[in-house]
Amino acid sequence: MTSPVLYLADTLIDGTGSAPQRRGAVLVDGERIAAVGEQARAAAPAGVHVVELAGCTLLPGLIDAHLHLDGWRSLNRTDWVLMDDGLRAIDAAHDAARMLAAGFTSVRDMGSVAAVSLREAVRAGEVPGPRMQVAVKGIYQTGGQGDRAWLPLDMVRARESCRLADGPDDCRRAVREMVRAGADVIKIAASGGPRSMVPHFSPEELAALVDEAHRMGFRVACHALGAVAIRNAVDAGVDSIEHGYGLDAATAERMAQRGTFLVCDLLMRERYATRGPAFRYPQAEADAAARALETGMASLRLAHEAGVRVAFGTDYGGQPILPPNELADGLLLMIEAGLSALEAIRAATATAAAVMGWEDRLGTLQAGRLADMIAVSADPLMDLHIVRRPVLVMQGGRLIPPDVGTWPREAQVPSTHRQGAMTLPMAPVEQR
Ligand SMILES: [Zn+2]
Repeated sequence: MTSPVLYLADTLIDGTGSAPQRRGAVLVDGERIAAVGEQARAAAPAGVHVVELAGCTLLPGLIDAHLHLDGWRSLNRTDWVLMDDGLRAIDAAHDAARMLAAGFTSVRDMGSVAAVSLREAVRAGEVPGPRMQVAVKGIYQTGGQGDRAWLPLDMVRARESCRLADGPDDCRRAVREMVRAGADVIKIAASGGPRSMVPHFSPEELAALVDEAHRMGFRVACHALGAVAIRNAVDAGVDSIEHGYGLDAATAERMAQRGTFLVCDLLMRERYATRGPAFRYPQAEADAAARALETGMASLRLAHEAGVRVAFGTDYGGQPILPPNELADGLLLMIEAGLSALEAIRAATATAAAVMGWEDRLGTLQAGRLADMIAVSADPLMDLHIVRRPVLVMQGGRLIPPDVGTWPREAQVPSTHRQGAMTLPMAPVEQR
């Protein structure tokens, strides 16, 4: 049993959206927060160990509510299917460790090959990483989102992080399979990607998916882009809209009334647009990503103005265009779309925890919550960039070494296993 520690900083942002507190203080006892603010100072026992973080701000650990810890090391979707599973799992574990060092103490994985294994390894303390909720595989219609139609169907079924389902009965069965496989949340897709925005699944299929998940106590996270698909998904009763590009005002209002979350991810789009071409990503696709980013920003603005609860996501998958220590840059894009810095922080802490149903466990700096906390070297409300470089990361009361997940690497020698698939022609980015 460790003794309590009192952390003192100039400022404290508790994640609830409340104004920052000056003279920040958090008393950590074991894995939990015992007290915050003046109460923490008052409650600290005599002789308590004090850590002074002069000039710093304390805030809750960051949460990425939409990513894929899938070890993608290229931008080519055929690589994602062909790369060795073991190597991908190890790459994903490496990304998880680096995300933790960057201040992400929890994540929600929306479909990847090793998610359950990684979640269990993190839980068991075998590898460092964020706390995880996982979808196992996304449930999509045949020929829809995630179904790489240029590959044989059997290969997609065997190798992709998607469970193709058609018809209400098969949709129910797919939900049961994901529950059996260890899912914490059910991920479905009600549309194609940002370019097609074609609605997927019939109303009967959507209703079956949502009913089956809810009956067993699971939330439904729904990939939906385009006004029609988003409306269909909200009407079907999904718990969160993922991406949500192309949202219209009427559906935004309906989401606010019903309490449907928007999990907003913009950062991958921005990185594909700006850095993709240097990684063999076709210029036309990079341009399409830039247009999708514009649409996504407009949708976030609309949702925010309508009072929709917005949570932070990145859609990160391990791609080299976005190192894990840059993931917090997604908050800057939220500010461009009209959120205040305080609102962006809430989206990546309290609201992201609420999407996961973990709001009573973590996501805020409050007495009784798990001590998932970061400190940054200045006031993030003045300069949100600094959230990218936390000076302290704590998960469950435990300090995370800043170099976790970094290891001296050998000179990069292309090997068959690592580079073989990556010389293939670029696969199509999107289909209908
Ligand atoms: Zn995704």
